[in-house]
Amino acid sequence: MIDLRSDTVTKPSQIMRDVMAKADVGDDVYGEDPTVNELERYAAELLGKEAALFVTSGTQGNQAAILTHTRPGQEAIMDEDAHVFVYEGAAISAFAGVQSRTLPHIRGEISMETLKEAIRADDVHYPETGLIWLENTHNRSGGAVLNQTYLKDVHLLAKQSRIPVHMDGARLFNAAVASNTSVRDIAQYVDSVQFCLSKGLGAPVGSILAGEQTFIEKARKKRKMLGGGLRQAGILAAPGLLALKSNIQRLAEDHDQAKRLAEAINTYTDLSVNHEVETNIIVADTHESKMTAPEWVNAMNEKDVAIIQYKPEALRFTTNLDVSKKDIDAVIEKLKDCSRKADD
Ligand SMILES: *Cc1c(COP(=O)(O)O)cnc(C)c1O
Repeated sequence: MIDLRSDTVTKPSQIMRDVMAKADVGDDVYGEDPTVNELERYAAELLGKEAALFVTSGTQGNQAAILTHTRPGQEAIMDEDAHVFVYEGAAISAFAGVQSRTLPHIRGEISMETLKEAIRADDVHYPETGLIWLENTHNRSGGAVLNQTYLKDVHLLAKQSRIPVHMDGARLFNAAVASNTSVRDIAQYVDSVQFCLSKGLGAPVGSILAGEQTFIEKARKKRKMLGGGLRQAGILAAPGLLALKSNIQRLAEDHDQAKRLAEAINTYTDLSVNHEVETNIIVADTHESKMTAPEWVNAMNEKDVAIIQYKPEALRFTTNLDVSKKDIDAVIEKLKDCSRKADD
């Protein structure tokens, strides 16, 4: 099976399994796991932040950030397709007691005018605006990279309004590699950032949340409340550290393969990729196809290619570490076959 459902499906390599087996460990709730401590130091340094926290998942990192930045009764501003709004089980309202203010966006960017207007005035009727949320790359926009000028503008507005900014950077390194910018240059515009080790970077488990020292101290307590205080977690941190040391630059290959695949989809099938493919995610529209999205998923499955239905009339293809150039050649042939069959 060539698995293009997500970049979360990659399996740890033999070297990763070796570093897991040999990892130095201790009780991380006591702060005594040397490998976790090394990963947290290394990640903080890479991001240009004072401190970092190893968390079990992107969702846990995002939720720990919300719990740390906000109080119940506040409001968080985000785009209406944000992962935190669509895919995190309303944890933001269930756990943090925070209301989501969802706004229209173009490729993950809310216009500055809309954003300005959304910040609440001091009025007895209104919730307080407690947080501004950014997602980079933007998943539901097909892996869109937020512009540095946009980040700078949001940062300025937030500073003037004394509102913290969190970046859900599940795919932060994809954004950095695609735009030839350092993660440090991206992260400088936000108070806290979360990125996933378990996606394109290829580690089996975990995410990092980074920010100022005092923020991370508080977030560590929130992580414990969320059940994320792990013991000999060095076994999980070791492959994360290896991923950061060896798998960042190769994300460019995933991006190249995604661009090639998207071109083939537009050339050889009646699906249409209507967005610029900047990173590793392709959203293909089925509106004008002879086959529905579920029919495409089944047809490709029968040919040993896994993709997912993403919206009622869209499919998602995600390139990743376990999919080679040859695999993409094969996928392109299979897409052509499916298209021909639909024409018969
Ligand atoms: C995957 C993802 C997350 C959540 O990460 P998990 O590790 O699956 O909990 C958060 N935000 C975005 C944009 C994602 O793509």
